[in-house]
Amino acid sequence: MSAGAAPGGALVLFTRDLRVRDHAALASAVREHDRVLAAFVLDRELLSGSCGAPNRLAFLIDCLEDLERSLAERGTHLVVRRGDVVQETMRLVEEHRLVAIHMSDDPTPYARSRHARLARACAGARVALRAHPGITVVAPGALTPAGGDHYRVFTPYWRAWSGLPRGPLLRAPHRIAGPSVLGAGTIPCAAALNPAAPSPQLQRGGENAGREQLGRWLRGGLERYEERHDALPEQGTSRLSAYLHFGCLSPRSVLERARTHGGAGSAAFARQLCWRDFHHQVLAARPQLPSVDYRPRGDRWRRSTRQADAWRAGQTGYPIVDAGMRQLTAEGFMHNRARLIVASFLTKTMYQDWRLGAAHFASLLIDADVADNVGNWQWVAGTGNDTRPNRVLNPLRQAKRFDPHGDYVRRYVPELAGVGGAAVHEPWRLGSAQRRGLGYPEPIVEHEAAARAARAPRG
Ligand SMILES: Cc1cc2nc3c(=O)[nH]c(=O)nc-3n(C[C@H](O)[C@H](O)[C@H](O)COP(=O)(O)OP(=O)(O)OC[C@H]3O[C@@H](n4cnc5c(N)ncnc54)[C@H](O)[C@@H]3O)c2cc1C
Repeated sequence: MSAGAAPGGALVLFTRDLRVRDHAALASAVREHDRVLAAFVLDRELLSGSCGAPNRLAFLIDCLEDLERSLAERGTHLVVRRGDVVQETMRLVEEHRLVAIHMSDDPTPYARSRHARLARACAGARVALRAHPGITVVAPGALTPAGGDHYRVFTPYWRAWSGLPRGPLLRAPHRIAGPSVLGAGTIPCAAALNPAAPSPQLQRGGENAGREQLGRWLRGGLERYEERHDALPEQGTSRLSAYLHFGCLSPRSVLERARTHGGAGSAAFARQLCWRDFHHQVLAARPQLPSVDYRPRGDRWRRSTRQADAWRAGQTGYPIVDAGMRQLTAEGFMHNRARLIVASFLTKTMYQDWRLGAAHFASLLIDADVADNVGNWQWVAGTGNDTRPNRVLNPLRQAKRFDPHGDYVRRYVPELAGVGGAAVHEPWRLGSAQRRGLGYPEPIVEHEAAARAARAPRG
């Protein structure tokens, strides 16, 4: 506690900000209070939805264990509770006679309703509730265009965002004086929360793993980001999305380190971080975005269980689409270019509802994030912020451009591993005997005809 700090302890409620560095809520609590209790609630409501999906749980548990180690080095522990987040938080406040709760502000609809419920409980208990920035670089709502409550188009947002001055990063507290937390509550293993197995090749979670990944990225990837970020077979992107989603890294610190590093890739990379903020500010202004078209266009989506199932399983007969979908299953991750291709295939070629695709992504992606997921799905489907809503990606042209030698496809579609070079993108051109031997499906639709039919006006 610094000189002049208020007596009485505070609770820092961690949510998806699982770090000790550049953490405004933690830094303020330590500065302003003589005792700080760090807590995380395994929220029953979130765990029953896609947040309880095995990949995200496995990553989350890594994050909590890492956070506990960081807190232990600073003299305290992470108290972990399970149940209703408001009840469990208020119980801790009461048990430890705390006077304030500090947490990160979060624009998702669920986080806002959680905050409103906590605010009511705090008002009744005479406890101060403080929300701090930290989920994005620029807080949603901090930038607005003249006459609007949010930016609808990215480029003007990017210009305004790039010009904002940024405050200094916050150091991790050296020492955290906490109340005695006997019975802190152990961190369960992921399987105890959801027995379903996670994807076989998951990234490891936590602030320290995130810092290592960031270090590797700055040393070996950022420089060539602009030219390589769309190349499917390469490790040309940062793989930081899950660390950003769970708040293992503060987005401000990632931006700062990328800028300090400089080089040609730095601006292109900053632009992607800005896209993240952009979608968050749209969601904050339009909380119905996860279910309602941002720009309705009267779509009457087709419903084909057969096509949707084939898409999910990576069995559409389009190797580039199937490779993306199988990367998702194997790693809980998919390259951004592949996300664009598979999403366009679902919504523009097969003309299936984007909500179906967003739900499948949410069930498997470690980085699944309401704002980024539905913002991007709507963008691709033409119902969102794309200024060219009629754009349709041709899977074959995309494949030849972004996986010119077919290496990405061969990596994820073992049936095609023996087909050399770019021929792997068009198995339908192989001789019929060879095709039969592959055990790979025929194309489920013919792209051009299907996409044309989807665009045709219906009476
Ligand atoms: C249909 C679809 C769904 C998506 N769903 C998600 C999602 O649920 N969560 C998610 O984090 N990203 C999502 N994205 C955006 C993007 O695909 C991922 O952020 C990116 O692939 C993560 O890999 P990376 O960390 O290596 O990215 P990099 O290329 O290294 O980018 C750096 C960071 O910038 C941010 N970023 C990059 N592209 C975008 C973008 N288009 N929109 C918003 N932020 C971006 C991410 O935080 C990313 O980690 C989606 C894209 C599409 C097309």
